[in-house]
Amino acid sequence: MSRVFNFSPGPATLPLEVLEQVKADLPDWHGCGMAVMEISHRSKAFLEVAEQAEADLRELLNISGDYAVLFLQGGATLQFAMAPMNLSVAGQSVDYLCTGSWSKKALKEAGVLREVNIVADGAASNYTDVPERSSWQCDPNAAYFHYTPNETIGGVEIHDVPDVGTVPVVADMSSTILSRPLDISRFGLIYAGAQKNIGPAGLTLVIVRNDLLERVEQTVPAILRYSTFASSGSMTNTPPTFTWYIAGLVFDWLKRQGGVEKMGEVNQRKAQRLYQAIDESGFYANPVAPAYRSWMNIPFTLARPELDAEFLEQATRAGLQNLKGHRSVGGMRASIYNAMPEEGVSALIEFMAEFERRNH
Ligand SMILES: *Cc1c(COP(=O)(O)O)cnc(C)c1O
Repeated sequence: MSRVFNFSPGPATLPLEVLEQVKADLPDWHGCGMAVMEISHRSKAFLEVAEQAEADLRELLNISGDYAVLFLQGGATLQFAMAPMNLSVAGQSVDYLCTGSWSKKALKEAGVLREVNIVADGAASNYTDVPERSSWQCDPNAAYFHYTPNETIGGVEIHDVPDVGTVPVVADMSSTILSRPLDISRFGLIYAGAQKNIGPAGLTLVIVRNDLLERVEQTVPAILRYSTFASSGSMTNTPPTFTWYIAGLVFDWLKRQGGVEKMGEVNQRKAQRLYQAIDESGFYANPVAPAYRSWMNIPFTLARPELDAEFLEQATRAGLQNLKGHRSVGGMRASIYNAMPEEGVSALIEFMAEFERRNH
């Protein structure tokens, strides 16, 4: 077997221990003579898996009983629609902070249903910076305030939860959830597609404050209401059982690593080392304002863009894969989620230095 260091933005690398466990569990899971994805979601054996995963997630993020944890499908993109449908009613306006590609998509979808107030827009900096808090035009009567703590494509991360008074905060945490400790009580709603920092694609995690479940209008179809899933243990219909099981293995792995406190330390160190290597080189550059540099997705350009293809080809040969930047940004992007070991970052830094020596 030969594994590479996989810097894919998502679906992304998973811990090898988790993959080995999945392999060992197939095709005879817990001695039941069947694979976990072959059994009923309502069976006692699967309910135990589902409940343990939720309990472990609650423990990792210290989620109180004031919040429901939902295991949904449809990706973060469905949440772009479900959030306004569930947390606001016709005629209400909603606040959105625009910091890049994903917040743009979220606010565009909300705009289909509601009046969207863009509190601030990072366009002037080409989304390499976040407008000063003092310049934001927040509406104190907004149904909620939405932001994207980590812009996966631009590599822009807001490291502190914005203070917007009593307006509930909604966050698309797809590419940063579980990367560090989080004060859940600051949020009304958190959602995250699983395929960045949780598990395989197909599962969307939603953490929603119970009192907000009551806002939904009866014109919203039941299958699109959070309350439907909250009252059925996310088993209104068949949930993505195999992904849920793997997410559970990842949560257990995170606990064994020392939880999100430890992950936060490691992630910050991994990111700092890579940014330092970029900044100290005369060859690589990252455009993001230092205060908003992401710990998870690190875009960088080469001083000689004509070498991009060669960089990628040689990196691939060195076992460093999926470093190509998003088509909208160009250059490179290293996604270094929880499951990317420090050795992977070290190997990338060494490769980059060597490539610079040969091509500067
Ligand atoms: C990947 C991503 C999405 C889209 O997720 P899907 O699961 O493909 O819908 C949305 N927001 C952010 C921040 C992302 O990183």
